Amino acid sequence: MSSRIVSRRDLEFQLFEVLDLDSLRERPRFAQHSRETMRAAVDTALAIAEAKFAPHNRKADEHEPRFDGKRVHLIPEVKEALDAYVAAGFLSATEDYEKGGMQLPSTVAGACQAIFAAANVGTTAYVSLTIANAALLAAFGSPEQQERYVQHLLSGRFFGTMALTEPQAGSSLADILTTATPNPDGTYSVRGTKIFISGGDHDLTENIVHLVLAKIPGSPPGVKGISLFIVPKRRVNADGSLGPPNDVALAGVFHKMGYRGTISTQLSFGERGECRGELVGQPNQGLAYMFHMMNEARIGVGLGAVMIGYTSYLHALDYARERPQGRPLATRDPRSPQIPIVQHADVRRMLLSSKSYVEGGLALCLYAARLDDELRTAASPDARREAELLLSLLTPVVKAWPSQYCLIASDLAIQVYGGYGYTREYPVEQFYRDNRLNPIHEGTNGIQALDLLGRKALGGGGEALGLLARAMSSELEAAEGEESLRDFGAQLGQAMERLVATTRRLGEAAARDVERGLANASVYLDVMGHVVVAWMWLRQAIAATRGLESSVGAEADFYRGKLAACRYFFRWELPRIGPQLALLDSLDSTCLDAQPAWL
Ligand SMILES: Cc1cc2nc3c(=O)[nH]c(=O)nc-3n(C[C@H](O)[C@H](O)[C@H](O)COP(=O)(O)OP(=O)(O)OC[C@H]3O[C@@H](n4cnc5c(N)ncnc54)[C@H](O)[C@@H]3O)c2cc1C
Repeated sequence: MSSRIVSRRDLEFQLFEVLDLDSLRERPRFAQHSRETMRAAVDTALAIAEAKFAPHNRKADEHEPRFDGKRVHLIPEVKEALDAYVAAGFLSATEDYEKGGMQLPSTVAGACQAIFAAANVGTTAYVSLTIANAALLAAFGSPEQQERYVQHLLSGRFFGTMALTEPQAGSSLADILTTATPNPDGTYSVRGTKIFISGGDHDLTENIVHLVLAKIPGSPPGVKGISLFIVPKRRVNADGSLGPPNDVALAGVFHKMGYRGTISTQLSFGERGECRGELVGQPNQGLAYMFHMMNEARIGVGLGAVMIGYTSYLHALDYARERPQGRPLATRDPRSPQIPIVQHADVRRMLLSSKSYVEGGLALCLYAARLDDELRTAASPDARREAELLLSLLTPVVKAWPSQYCLIASDLAIQVYGGYGYTREYPVEQFYRDNRLNPIHEGTNGIQALDLLGRKALGGGGEALGLLARAMSSELEAAEGEESLRDFGAQLGQAMERLVATTRRLGEAAARDVERGLANASVYLDVMGHVVVAWMWLRQAIAATRGLESSVGAEADFYRGKLAACRYFFRWELPRIGPQLALLDSLDSTCLDAQPAWL
């Protein structure tokens, strides 16, 4: 099936030829799965996405959620699409069979979620948040909380949110002011204001389960005093039936540039002093628990960014094949027919760079999902621990690199469409506006950079970076043995060595002066992203070289396209890290030294 949502052939390639999902069937948890069951899940997702999600993507953008003072209005297609999603079992795709789930590998569930995000990211956000919310409660909620909330979240009876941000505390969660005061019955009275809360109010489900960060009076200052609370929109009785409203008021709706299908709300908790919350786990551990949800959400943001870029690229590709304009440079005869713009080298440049970003980004996000499968089901505790460490290192990269580069793919799609791309008659301007959110939410890319360099790369004595280098070694060896890939392997090996050396240098600088050592963390993230995505391209090129040996026609073109995009990435993109590493090595302080008064 030819789709503008995603290349089905590419998904097949990534899942089975690059990530070797067949081997997961050897694990007891996935023993009942086969290539056919995994394919069936992906095909079902694509069918629902085509039929129910993509058709209202534009309408949801044009008719953003509206609050009439009493209730929120969404276009009806949102609920129809989500009902189809829930009925097909995607909310509990990775759950145990006994709990009504499909026990799918995270990698396959990730591929399915990717398809929905490409078709309509605004509608998909409601269920993405719900899945992450339920996963947090399954990990840290009490058995009683799991009974009352998790099963209803996974059945689609309730949807979930994450409520962290406050007007004065966005990046700096240490400064939240929402309080939770203990009551004699074991509940907490929650009071405060949260802003930008996605999916914060609607009638799509019977109830909404907010996971709210708040401080218990007397707790330590800063992040060490943050606790996590379940605050339902309507109280939930022990038998799962609904109680009275819980004093969570919708104070306003944000009007956004894109992502308009998802309602963004300002919520007031406890205006009448009647908002009851339930503590999750231990007091003052709230941020650590929330990171469970945020890490999952960060990978989801990266995947969403990839997929909006991916659909942008596919639309641009179709357009470029059909739009006649101009003639070959060597043709002088103005009566000769015009050629499709895809034949111009500069248009191919835009398409090839987009392809390298979105297919490289997809490989990265699915690799992260595969690490999630490893950390849950690998045979040895050592393998599980290593997968966890590597995933933790890569999470800021998975969130931020696609947010930056797949947004460029959306930008380039507008350029390929020319003037039409800038009009609302064509879909690519919406893709750009939707994708522009991704460098901002779930921790801005600037915050991801600090997390990557300050905590993940320099923390733990550099063990995680060493693991990354080790993980690359099998592809470096394979490339050494394949003449057409040898130079790429050597280039990647050198890039990784330089990255390790620069990290050490920045670590020493940070030990002397943390402001200086971390001042250029965004450049570091950019470099690490390019090195990791180059690795993803080498992995794909190795698989494509294998596939090409026995292919002809469209199949051979598919593999040649992979090799061309790999070559593009190594020739045009990876060399950019040279000057960036030199800048980092020099401990350049141009930005740090520029005084606010000079700007
Ligand atoms: C559409 C949308 C949906 C959202 N959904 C949710 C949601 O569901 N739940 C939720 O809780 N929140 C949500 N958010 C909030 C989002 O996570 C925050 O907007 C984000 O964390 C940034 O916070 P801020 O907007 O206050 O910006 P600020 O924190 O004020 O940041 C402004 C700029 O300063 C930079 N900056 C800030 N601090 C530092 C620092 N220490 N070092 C270097 N640079 C810094 C940032 O990188 C950024 O460029 C959403 C936001 C939007 C726009």
